[in-house]
Amino acid sequence: MKQVELINLSKSYEKQTEVLNEINLSIDEGEFFVLVGPSGSGKSTLLRMIAGLEDITSGVLKINEKVVNHLPPKDRDLSMVFQNYALYPHLSVEQNILFGLHAKKVAKKEQQKRLHETADMMGLGSLLKRKPKQLSGGQRQRVALARSVVSECPLCLMDEPLSNLDAKLRAHMRMEIRRLQKRLGLTMVYVTHDQVEAMTMGDRIMVLNEGKIQQVGDPITLYNEPANLFVASFIGSPK
Ligand code: ADP
Ligand code: MG
Repeated sequence: MKQVELINLSKSYEKQTEVLNEINLSIDEGEFFVLVGPSGSGKSTLLRMIAGLEDITSGVLKINEKVVNHLPPKDRDLSMVFQNYALYPHLSVEQNILFGLHAKKVAKKEQQKRLHETADMMGLGSLLKRKPKQLSGGQRQRVALARSVVSECPLCLMDEPLSNLDAKLRAHMRMEIRRLQKRLGLTMVYVTHDQVEAMTMGDRIMVLNEGKIQQVGDPITLYNEPANLFVASFIGSPK
């Protein structure tokens, strides 16, 4: 089934020129889909449109085969992890993880069950009473991921979630995210400007430049058969 579908989607901010131009794309249920491109190419804008955080200038956005152009973010049954983690500094790790569940009216007992399962899975079990400022970058990142996981949303959007981590932790977290996505059967839309991240994580990759799709395909195809010079040099293939 198609989980996300974009049909002739374009976006302009106020009177500026288009930052996304006629994007056509569908993402399958359970797929790990990577959106890659240089800074300013429109990746975050596209993700925020799927989340409902930006208006759509023209075109159609479908989630689960329903048109959602005007559906408020909270009704879209998705979770989003931002680049800066966006944790609440005055709340504990536990409160941060559970924050989104209050609005969803999940029973207290169920909340605790999900909290402990997720915290164990993410190695956060001993940190639940701490505040974000008492955590390392990697631990904060795990809290943001845990918050997304407890929501049990089938669609997960991540915007450069590993960009503030050192190389070693980043490599580790790539594997963790992939494992989690497989285990939970999530549909993932994952934004990065890092070619290595894209090539190692994605089932399929979309290369974006200046608001236009350059190519969509699996990592091997992109590497062996880049559609143009931009893709070839961005991915680093020998063309
Ligand atoms: P990326 O995430 O790939 O770095 P963005 O989606 O953040 O790219 O930005 C794409 C383009 O849209 C950039 O030229 C950026 O300056 C512009 N842009 C992003 N957000 C806004 C905004 N709120 N208002 C006006 N222009 C914006
Ligand atoms: Mg961005």
